[in-house]
Amino acid sequence: MPQRLPVNFTADAACLKDKVILVTGAGDGIGRAAALSFAKHGATVILLGRTIEKLEAVYDEIEAMSAPQAAIYPMHLRGAAAHDYQELADTIEREFGRLDGLLHNASILGQRRSLAQTTLDSWEEVMQVNVNAQFMMTQTLLPVLAASKNGSLVFTSSSVGRKGRAFWGAYSVSKFATEAMMQILADEEYDLNGTRVNSINPGATNTEMRRSAYPGENPTDNPSPEAIMPLYLYLMSDDSREVNGQQFDAQPKD
Ligand code: NAP
Repeated sequence: MPQRLPVNFTADAACLKDKVILVTGAGDGIGRAAALSFAKHGATVILLGRTIEKLEAVYDEIEAMSAPQAAIYPMHLRGAAAHDYQELADTIEREFGRLDGLLHNASILGQRRSLAQTTLDSWEEVMQVNVNAQFMMTQTLLPVLAASKNGSLVFTSSSVGRKGRAFWGAYSVSKFATEAMMQILADEEYDLNGTRVNSINPGATNTEMRRSAYPGENPTDNPSPEAIMPLYLYLMSDDSREVNGQQFDAQPKD
């Protein structure tokens, strides 16, 4: 049974003060909202993504709100290799000495087709961005998360990462793999290093990805990314320091 945001949680204005948090896919959609919200609550945010102009726009918004200065880290997860992740880890180690939070948010939809019709190219691209990149990035960043003593690693899942559904193909499989990575890491890291590991299913949210998956839908029928931020703040704040290995729903059904 997925967990939900505790009813008694309210994010205090400084709940992420002095935390260093990396957000992937920080230029748009849920990642952009998370980066802005983390910064607003006191975090120094590392904005990672593939489109520099979008990252710069988020950087400027953070600067305009007089939040801690953000950092931009351009990276295309499709082509990034082990040495790119090592460079990222080395940069974080050098600049900050630790990483308090990592939000794995970037992902791609791939083809919305039956598995029978999914092309190998599309399958491989989705697995590279949604699974392999997450694995490589997590593995190289575990030592800097451990240096935090109280690190929070958050994976982004989907309802089709918890129950398979026709025509969600590689994306669905990639989200099941994401949930497995979350559970395994939660079991391995928490006792060893104090790094807690959880996953969020954002639920239908008005972003580019949702609009392209459901072109016939009225986009504003779905909540904005900003509306689901309380759960993201909770999982990055010390309020959740004893929460590990859990699947959360940002928009529980009942
Ligand atoms: P989105 O609007 O498509 O944003 C995805 C972000 O990831 C964008 O900033 C994108 O960069 C970045 N990205 C994609 N491929 C990348 C790559 N190869 N390298 C680096 N960055 C890359 O999606 P979203 O709706 O915010 O989704 C965020 C997360 O929530 C995803 O994991 C998604 O599966 C999950 N989710 C969303 C919904 C929903 O209803 N929206 C529901 C369930 C789960 P560009 O902007 O440069 O393209």
